Amino acid sequence: MSSAPVSKIPDLGARTDEITIFAGPCSVESVEQFNEVAECVASLGLHWIRGGAFKPRTNPHSFQGLGEEALQIMQAGSVKYGLKTLTEVMDSEHIDLVSAYCDGIQVGARNFQNFSLLKNIGAKTAVSKKMVLFKRGFAGTIAEWLSATEYLTLAGNDNIVLCERGLRTFETATRFTLDISAVPVIHKQSLFPICVDVSHPAGQRDLVPSLARAAVAAGADSIMIEVHPNPPEALSDGPQQLTPAQFADLVGELREIAAVFGKKIV
Ligand code: PEP
Ligand code: MN
Repeated sequence: MSSAPVSKIPDLGARTDEITIFAGPCSVESVEQFNEVAECVASLGLHWIRGGAFKPRTNPHSFQGLGEEALQIMQAGSVKYGLKTLTEVMDSEHIDLVSAYCDGIQVGARNFQNFSLLKNIGAKTAVSKKMVLFKRGFAGTIAEWLSATEYLTLAGNDNIVLCERGLRTFETATRFTLDISAVPVIHKQSLFPICVDVSHPAGQRDLVPSLARAAVAAGADSIMIEVHPNPPEALSDGPQQLTPAQFADLVGELREIAAVFGKKIV
């Protein structure tokens, strides 16, 4: 077992015997869609649900997210099912809005070196210390990632979860190449907990369970997994999302693997 120092991150199983799962749809699409996933997540005894309200889409003609309506759906669903919510902020002008509705703020891979966004999030959450899940850019080194993290901490918020989500490489068989070695490297070089997003590097749902098993075995403090009630109909990232039933099976399996390391999935 790791002898790394314990970083006290409120509400998150950081460097403890808990592995926190952030599961939920890529995009929040409707009350029914979000609540179906929320019901599944809560029934498994998990605590957090993710969902996109402002989506960073490569093509401007693609679904951009429901914006504030998605935040309202998330808030109502999270109250109904007793969950905490995580959503991405792409623009400084939305930090206050998202903070008013959600428990955690995600900085996506495409904003990894948007230093003004990082500074503004750090400053606007300096009092609340709202959790910031900070994704690695897909062409970013770990040194650049940790350096960028200081924009958040220097502005006043060190309640940070780092999130590895795959790199752009020559390989095209997967959507991105998951850098599983980021887990032990972050444990060596940082006190922040490390989450592994296993959905975006996979790009295909049948690869997701293997990557999730690997993340737990590598010592990840947290796992992100996209879940949708009807993936073929999803408005974004359909091919990589698990159904609630597939997700429930996977969580059962991850709990067995975690137990080998004396850890719990929460
Ligand atoms: C997401 O989590 O919905 C997302 C867009 O991820 P990334 O920033 O890693 O592409
Ligand atoms: Mn997605």
